[in-house]
Amino acid sequence: MEELQSLADLLDLQEVDSAIDKLLDDRQNLPALQQYKVAHADAVAKGKARQAAEDHSKVVSLDADKLAGELEIAEVKLDRQEQRLFAGGMNAKETENMRQDVASLRISKSNMEDRVLELLDISETAEIALSVAGKALAAAEEEERGFEEMIADAWKSIDAMIARKEVRKAEIVPSVAPDLLELYTDLRNRRGGVVVGALEHSTCGACHLELSAAEHHEAIQENPPRCVHCGAILVP
Ligand SMILES: [Zn+2]
Repeated sequence: MEELQSLADLLDLQEVDSAIDKLLDDRQNLPALQQYKVAHADAVAKGKARQAAEDHSKVVSLDADKLAGELEIAEVKLDRQEQRLFAGGMNAKETENMRQDVASLRISKSNMEDRVLELLDISETAEIALSVAGKALAAAEEEERGFEEMIADAWKSIDAMIARKEVRKAEIVPSVAPDLLELYTDLRNRRGGVVVGALEHSTCGACHLELSAAEHHEAIQENPPRCVHCGAILVP
C-alpha cells in the first residue's frame, strides 16, 4: 500500500516537474525577448547614426569657424592695402601693382564669403540632422526600455509561479521512496518529458500504448512496474 502511495506521489511529482519545465521554457521563450533583441539592435544602429551625425556636424562647424577666421585675416589685409592705395605717394608701377593686389584680394575675399555662407548652410543642415538622429535614438531607447520592463515583469511573475511549484515539490519529494525517486530523476534527466504513466485499462499513460494481458501481468510483478513499450514507471 505504501509502495502504491509512493507511486501515486510520483505522478504528482511529475506533474509539478512538468509545470516547472513549462514555466522555465516560457521564461526563455517570451515573445518580448525577441522583440527586445530587435529593439536593442535598432537602438544600437540609431546610436551609431547619431554619433556619425554629431561627428559630421563638428567637422562642418570647425571648417566654418576656420574659414571665418581666415576671412577675418583677409579683410584686415585688404583694408590695409586699400588704405595704402588711398594714401598715395607711390610711383605708377607701384600703384598699379597695389591696385592689382587689392583687386585680387577682393575676389579672394568674396570667394571666401561665399564659401563661409555655404558652410554655414551645410552646418545648419548638419545640426538639424543631428537633432533628428538624437530624437530617433531617444525613441528607440525608450522602446528598448519598454521591452526590458515587460520582460522583467513577466520573469517576476513566472519566477513567483516557479517558487510556488518548488514549495509543492518539496512537499511531495519526502513521501516518495528514495530508490523510486532516484529512478525517476535518472529517467527524467536522461529522457526528459513524461517518464511516469498511470496504468489504466492496460494502457500506459505515458506512451498511450496498450499492454497485452501477459505484458500487464508481467509489468505489475515488477517493482516498480515499467511499461514494456516506453520504459515509463507505471502507476497501477
Ligand atoms: Zn509506455
